[in-house]
Amino acid sequence: MADTQTLEKPAGQKTEHFDVLIIGAGISGVGAAYHLKEQCPDKSFVVLESLESFGGTWHMHRYPGIRSDSDLYTFGYRFKPWTGAPIASAEEILSYMGEVIEENNLNDHIRYGHKITSANWSSDEQLYRLEGVRTDTGETVHFTANFLWMCQGYYRHSEGYTPDWEGMDDFAGEIVHPQTWPEDLDYKGKNVLVIGSGATAATLVPAIAGDCSHVTLLQRSPTYFIPGRNENELADQLRVLDIDESWIHEITRKAILYQQADFTRRAFEEPEVVKEELLAGVREYLGPDFDMDTHFTPKYLPWRQRIAFVPDGDIFEGVKSGKASIVTDEIERFTKKGILLKSGKELEADIIVTATGFNLSVLGDINFSIDDKPLNFADTVTYRGMMFTGVPNLVWVFGYFRASWTLRVDLLGDFVARLLNHMKAKGVKSVTPALREEDEDMELLPWMDPENFNPGYLMRSMHLLPKRGNKPDWQHTQDYWAEKDELPKIDLDDPIFVYK
Ligand SMILES: Cc1cc2nc3c(=O)[nH]c(=O)nc-3n(C[C@H](O)[C@H](O)[C@H](O)COP(=O)(O)OP(=O)(O)OC[C@H]3O[C@@H](n4cnc5c(N)ncnc54)[C@H](O)[C@@H]3O)c2cc1C
Repeated sequence: MADTQTLEKPAGQKTEHFDVLIIGAGISGVGAAYHLKEQCPDKSFVVLESLESFGGTWHMHRYPGIRSDSDLYTFGYRFKPWTGAPIASAEEILSYMGEVIEENNLNDHIRYGHKITSANWSSDEQLYRLEGVRTDTGETVHFTANFLWMCQGYYRHSEGYTPDWEGMDDFAGEIVHPQTWPEDLDYKGKNVLVIGSGATAATLVPAIAGDCSHVTLLQRSPTYFIPGRNENELADQLRVLDIDESWIHEITRKAILYQQADFTRRAFEEPEVVKEELLAGVREYLGPDFDMDTHFTPKYLPWRQRIAFVPDGDIFEGVKSGKASIVTDEIERFTKKGILLKSGKELEADIIVTATGFNLSVLGDINFSIDDKPLNFADTVTYRGMMFTGVPNLVWVFGYFRASWTLRVDLLGDFVARLLNHMKAKGVKSVTPALREEDEDMELLPWMDPENFNPGYLMRSMHLLPKRGNKPDWQHTQDYWAEKDELPKIDLDDPIFVYK
């Protein structure tokens, strides 16, 4: 099926056909394109991206200080060595991705400014019919594809999540969400209030503190952080020995993943000990007199939400120097001058930044249907967090929370390539996951166990996501260390896979 055809549509519009259509040119889509080209060279494919460039998250987020919160030895692809400091800025990540695109001639396969709006699987034709819009001209575009590789991420890029607080319209200053940071925002000499406690807030506060009159971080409840130096001793040592960068990449990745596995295991086996260790790391920066209980002691156990690495403890240095302060309280309402807290205190601000998270987007806000019947993904059961019962020829790349997202991009790259090659060898056109006889009575649960992982955007939108079963086959286990061995061994002739 390696043909790229152009079919004439009655209205004069053309429909282009590809064997595989990848949606999104973020770190997942570019990785998917690489693996497809490497492992299935006979397949025709296109990557459709609604933005005007590649990078997704790293292209969209423009707030000061934007950087990764995990190390680039594992957030980078396994096939392209990372040679810089472990924590990288968005600019460095984009430049790395740009090299991957260029070195592998992927540019000819990517079309920017193409937003897909609907996808209908036709059982008669055994393909998807997709409709989209060109964001530059407004023109409607049509594609057909045998297989959809969904790399659209997990949150809506056009707007972040801001709770609807009372009195927001009364505020005389500017309200900004980090996801849509205005390029010309002038915060120099201003009083800035950042609402939030996650990685974004922790990055933003030290990045702007030097220029602002004062920055206040307002959080409802604290988060765990891991402060440390932005360097990897092992990689640096290997560099001194003039070891080849591809070896350094592989060895450093293995070492980091080994340490992370140990940390994750301990977070579940001895959460109180790990909690104390994490708090001690922060206390080292802030000193014994700082009110750690109120501001830096989370209510949840470690690893139930992402833990941000804080290079050189920069946010704590900001707090210690007095350029930044931290308030842990709840918002009663916005006022003309700032925010009135439940405690009765009022925080004044010229600019309020709502670093309050994302809106989940299930499969790129695309209207999916099967034989013209609307598809509700919440009615499906997920096969390993990547495929869905009753949905043919579709894989969604949803990475890891406790390990770098990209580790799964590579693993799923291998899986999809193996699946496509298997289908070719079998001479079949479609594969649809289905519950086996032994799965029929399986208890169906929400996508993610809140006891296991519970960030706000998932909790708010769980009802939109596919169901999970109580067996590893039927859930996204979030366990890289198990999946790295399990995924390559999946038996593609298991009755879970129904071929046609
Ligand atoms: C500020 C920030 C920092 C992060 N740091 C880390 C980190 O350090 N480590 C980590 O593991 N994870 C991190 N994450 C999570 C991060 O989002 C993922 O790791 C990863 O970048 C997601 O890549 P992706 O390609 O799957 O999705 P995205 O980066 O979201 O890219 C998806 C792309 O698909 C496009 N798209 C969506 N819908 C459509 C459509 N209908 N038609 C056409 N195109 C479409 C979008 O425009 C976008 O370009 C971070 C997230 C944020 C917001």
